[in-house]
Amino acid sequence: MPDVTVQHQVALSRLTTFKNAGEIETLKVLHNEAALRDLYGSGTSFVLLGKGSNMVINPDGPRQLFVQISPDFFPVSVSGQEVTVSSGMHLAKFLQFCSDQGWSGLEFAAGVPASLGGMAVMNFGCWGQEMASYVKSVYVMNESGETFWVDKADIQYGYRDSIFQHHSWVILKLVLLLNREEPDRIRNKIRQYIHDRGAKQPLRASTFGSVFRNPEGKSAGQLIDSLGLRGHRFGGVKISEQHANFFENEGAGTFQDLMSAIEGVQSQVKTRYDILLQPEVKIIL
Ligand SMILES: Cc1cc2nc3c(=O)[nH]c(=O)nc-3n(C[C@H](O)[C@H](O)[C@H](O)COP(=O)(O)OP(=O)(O)OC[C@H]3O[C@@H](n4cnc5c(N)ncnc54)[C@H](O)[C@@H]3O)c2cc1C
Repeated sequence: MPDVTVQHQVALSRLTTFKNAGEIETLKVLHNEAALRDLYGSGTSFVLLGKGSNMVINPDGPRQLFVQISPDFFPVSVSGQEVTVSSGMHLAKFLQFCSDQGWSGLEFAAGVPASLGGMAVMNFGCWGQEMASYVKSVYVMNESGETFWVDKADIQYGYRDSIFQHHSWVILKLVLLLNREEPDRIRNKIRQYIHDRGAKQPLRASTFGSVFRNPEGKSAGQLIDSLGLRGHRFGGVKISEQHANFFENEGAGTFQDLMSAIEGVQSQVKTRYDILLQPEVKIIL
């Protein structure tokens, strides 16, 4: 395995779940710590991608290097109730491991196309549960190429927030504290969560989850819904009929269409409720 796999002219439809048109010039998938240390050492700035399920990229923005952490950076390992996983591992693959080996905890997230690293950064949450409850510690590399562990107490987890959103550290692996459970019970829970999610969210559409953060004590989806915006279109981007805080790329939706949708909704909510909705999605201009 080389230290780095380089791909050129990569379609955004392969990199982010919103699948807008366009491409990036270069993607580097890093397979070990030396590769990331070399990259930092070269002084080249980069944008880090997980599975792109909470990111949108402007294909006409400045030329930037995009980087992903390979799922095989570290093998999965188990010690007592601690399961250590590579940050680049896809949630679905990890849940397969969990259901085979009898580890319960992250079933609530089933059906979401995220990486475990991205989930730790965003403090992924739903159904009253969140990633923070299962993270014990996280192993990162900083801009100087130094690696260190960050314990849960120092991660400063909050609503869709963590210390990782305020530092340019790269998460390399995570230690999760999980519980022993019968494989069949885990499989049933996963099936049920996917079913329930499909009933609430447009799982088959090209989206990136919630567009806006919920304002204090309010639901962004309900605010948008109350304006009668479900199904409203901004070019090729539609406000989901199923969940008003999800925007769907109908196929030909562009980055500009999405920006118009975000700004259009922000403006209408501000006018009616005097609340400025803040995007949850990470927008790479
Ligand atoms: C259908 C659908 C349903 C969704 N439902 C939910 C939900 O119920 N709850 C919820 O919270 N979210 C939901 N999301 C949003 C999304 O899945 C989460 O935010 C997820 O945590 C993002 O993971 P990712 O790997 O795709 O990260 P990305 O979107 O690729 O990246 C998100 C951020 O994390 C950073 N990052 C990624 N990997 C690393 C790393 N290794 N080290 C440091 N920084 C990193 C990126 O730079 C970026 O800033 C949904 C998305 C979709 C498409």
